[in-house]
Amino acid sequence: MSKNRENKYFGEFGGQYVAESLMNTLEELEKAFDEAISDPNFINEYMYYLKEYVGRETPLYYAKRLSEKYGATIYLKREDLNHTGAHKINNVIGQILLAKRMGKTKIIAETGAGQHGVATATGAALFNMECTIYMGTEDIERQKLNVFRMQMLGATVSPVKTGSATLKDATNEAIRTWAERAEDTFYVLGSAVGPYPYPKIVKEFQRIISTETKRQILEKEGKLPDAVVACVGGGSNSIGMFADFIDEKDVDLIGVEAGGLGIETGKHASAMALGQVGVLHGMKTYLLQDDDGNIQLAHSISAGLDYPGVGPEHAYLRDTKRATYVSITDKECMDALMELCRLEGIIPAIESAHAMAYVFKMAQNEYKGKTIVMCLSGRGDKDVDTVAKYMNGEETNK
Ligand SMILES: *Cc1c(COP(=O)(O)O)cnc(C)c1O
Repeated sequence: MSKNRENKYFGEFGGQYVAESLMNTLEELEKAFDEAISDPNFINEYMYYLKEYVGRETPLYYAKRLSEKYGATIYLKREDLNHTGAHKINNVIGQILLAKRMGKTKIIAETGAGQHGVATATGAALFNMECTIYMGTEDIERQKLNVFRMQMLGATVSPVKTGSATLKDATNEAIRTWAERAEDTFYVLGSAVGPYPYPKIVKEFQRIISTETKRQILEKEGKLPDAVVACVGGGSNSIGMFADFIDEKDVDLIGVEAGGLGIETGKHASAMALGQVGVLHGMKTYLLQDDDGNIQLAHSISAGLDYPGVGPEHAYLRDTKRATYVSITDKECMDALMELCRLEGIIPAIESAHAMAYVFKMAQNEYKGKTIVMCLSGRGDKDVDTVAKYMNGEETNK
């Protein structure tokens, strides 16, 4: 196996399963990224915007009431306090600065729930880039408010009608468009997925989460945590939370997938739970697929977690047993969401509440008395409508 090939893979996962016409573009991207990330001027500019615009560093908050009730020392990494309300902006700022450095004038992105679309439209306005967001027509219908937000920020939302008309199809469309227009266009990918080098790029721009956390927990506790926990959609907030702890073998890494109505019902988004390897969006990884290898629709009360796959480095961390992946159902997640509201006065994103639900289980069992850090990936303002429907017993999963 050539060194070149090894570089593009995490074990057997990852790679570049794209049309020949994109190979040069991916190479150009990798070269530009590797140069940028080792250029102090680029890092300084990135850190400047994270501080002055995004509002970093985010607090590592000791959740006293939750800790007392559930029996472990629980800290929350407050990514919900970032500008635009989640961790996604960390990655968007990094990628758009990279786009500018490469001389691109236009950016494109995919979005499902609309969160990455809003973050990208925000960055495009800030850095004066023409911005088109690909979004499935199903999602456009379900996420009207985010569509309007993107338009307010000056982006064009381009409807995608193919396939299931959701995130999977919007991503295909973005990759296709990029292959045709890479000359002046940069593709801002929203999670730790896609063809190499995207999983690496997204990890590096989300690494700030664990870099800050490590410093903060050492300050507060004088030692590293026993576990770090994060929810997993495509896997960007989790890989950011894991990054600086991967080499700290005493720190357990735990990813929480969306179990929907329960793994056994088939209506879920837990790509890792069943462990079927396949190829999607330019990468080899664990995917939800039927016996014929067709991609299955993911199913979760949380729009941000219903991606049918998971980033390739997570697949590798799972197989090498460095990280553990678990599932939380819609019901468990909604109970945890309300608990966080009532005990700490924090309304979390439904995505983040999945991680919270698992933290409660851990704290009452094998992690009793231990220290757990959870990535609170986003705030729940966007989800209030879904929560209200859920409480009224209305259909919230499609
Ligand atoms: C998009 C999103 C996620 C899921 O995406 P990852 O790439 O797995 O982090 C989780 N939480 C929030 C708040 C999100 O907006």
